[in-house]
Amino acid sequence: MRRLTKPNLTQAAVYAACVQGIGDGNVRARFNAIAQQVDQNELVYDQLASAGHLYQWVSHARGENHVAALGQVTRGEFKQLYKNHMARAGKPARPIYDQIRMSAPNNICPYCGFGSVETVDHFLPKGRYSSLSVLPLNLVPACRDCNGGKLDSILMADNVHSHPYYEQQYVFDDEWLYASIVQTQIPYIEFLLVVPAAWPADVSHRVANHFQEFDLQRRFAIQASERLVYFANVIQGSVADGATAMIAETLQQQARAERVAHGVNSWQSALAKTVANDAWFQAVGYTQLL
Ligand SMILES: [Zn+2]
Repeated sequence: MRRLTKPNLTQAAVYAACVQGIGDGNVRARFNAIAQQVDQNELVYDQLASAGHLYQWVSHARGENHVAALGQVTRGEFKQLYKNHMARAGKPARPIYDQIRMSAPNNICPYCGFGSVETVDHFLPKGRYSSLSVLPLNLVPACRDCNGGKLDSILMADNVHSHPYYEQQYVFDDEWLYASIVQTQIPYIEFLLVVPAAWPADVSHRVANHFQEFDLQRRFAIQASERLVYFANVIQGSVADGATAMIAETLQQQARAERVAHGVNSWQSALAKTVANDAWFQAVGYTQLL
């Protein structure tokens, strides 16, 4: 999970750029007639998201694209506005889409913290909240796995996950991701989430949902499996050099470096810290991965 700065884009400017691309004058006029209401969405969204209450936004059923979403503009037309006039290459609003897609530092997906950003995700899915189709605050750069794995579902109080623009700073600073090495014939790594007891219940719940929604336990374990082999070889190298006494310190250094490079709750940091503290793996377990 990575925190992102809110896009430096207003709904008014993005909406105007999207609507400008519509060729049919009648359709354009219907969009222009609701510009103020759409603009108002931004303020309400910002207030609800800041309070962690976005699940209060009223959703609509899937499909039925002919039904009006706002004023005389239908659900289908809102979705088309995004698809045809913002995401499509060559359209006036496409540079805005690109700006959002490229806004994640080092192009790393904020939802999982390791995938490459390839797409733009609607935090509140446009299939359920079509009037938010081109709201910058609702558009998050994401990797394909996170975007595709996210269900097109209504956000409820009990299934809300972390919003990269709005999540509490301490969620990114406090440690909550841990790993353990499972002592089997071929050792492997398991990740677990232990949120600080001091966190408010709604924040703990949100982070736990996030972990589950994006399948992070399984996806982190896949990433970590080859890295565990790497650490087995680091240990073997020290043993071969006769530097057995230095193994723990070498691994602690690696753990500190992973933490600085990838963040305290990255799979890399959690794995390296566990390897550095696991006496069984350092003495015996590593040999089973060589
Ligand atoms: Zn991702």
